[in-house]
Amino acid sequence: SQYIVGLTGGIGCGKTTVTNLFSDLGVQHVDADVIARDVVKPGTACLAAIAEQFGPSMLLADGSLNRPALRQHIFTDATAKTWLEQLLHPAIRQQLLTYLAACSSDYVLLVAPLLLENNLQLYCHRVLVIDLPEALQLSRTLARDQVSEQQVAAIMAAQLSREDRLAQADDVIVNDSTLEQLLPQVQLLHKRYLQLAAAAKN
Ligand code: ATP
Repeated sequence: SQYIVGLTGGIGCGKTTVTNLFSDLGVQHVDADVIARDVVKPGTACLAAIAEQFGPSMLLADGSLNRPALRQHIFTDATAKTWLEQLLHPAIRQQLLTYLAACSSDYVLLVAPLLLENNLQLYCHRVLVIDLPEALQLSRTLARDQVSEQQVAAIMAAQLSREDRLAQADDVIVNDSTLEQLLPQVQLLHKRYLQLAAAAKN
């Protein structure tokens, strides 16, 4: 029914920038990070289950998730980490599919930094990787965020390597040059995706 393109890439590679260019062309997207935050908002079954399993210290005074406390807890307890993943992953998947189904553009982007790490490519017809050398990934992230080089390096180490990500790509946008170089690459892929989506309907 719906043609889904998974869009991924490491930290600071330009996923948001590229997604905005597709948006300008009328292509809708669902952001896995937004959904991962949605499923633990106050009032959700997942947040209640976390507080019940790990205790009230998982909640802040305003009833929202105490993320540092949760991170610390699962960092020191592998069983807790597995339990949490088994709670959150199905909830995230279900919400993703609901949001994707609500989209009406000719094809839809599923944007996820950890698309391949979390096997979300299972829901995608195609995988689009935004690629650039690690040194640029680092310098652009440092220019954008208030983080240390060590913090960025740690995040990069927890993500797939550039080679492993590229090995699973159907399409690649190379983002090692100016922003002006991005638009023609997006336009070309947009044309191809419209054709593929139309062909998939028949
Ligand atoms: P994250 O996963 O960390 O959220 P991202 O993949 O969404 O990152 P962006 O936020 O789109 O990446 O890009 C990272 C930074 O690099 C931003 O500040 C963005 O403006 C900048 N940037 C993206 N593409 C280019 C480019 N071609 N030239 C210069 N700067 C760029």
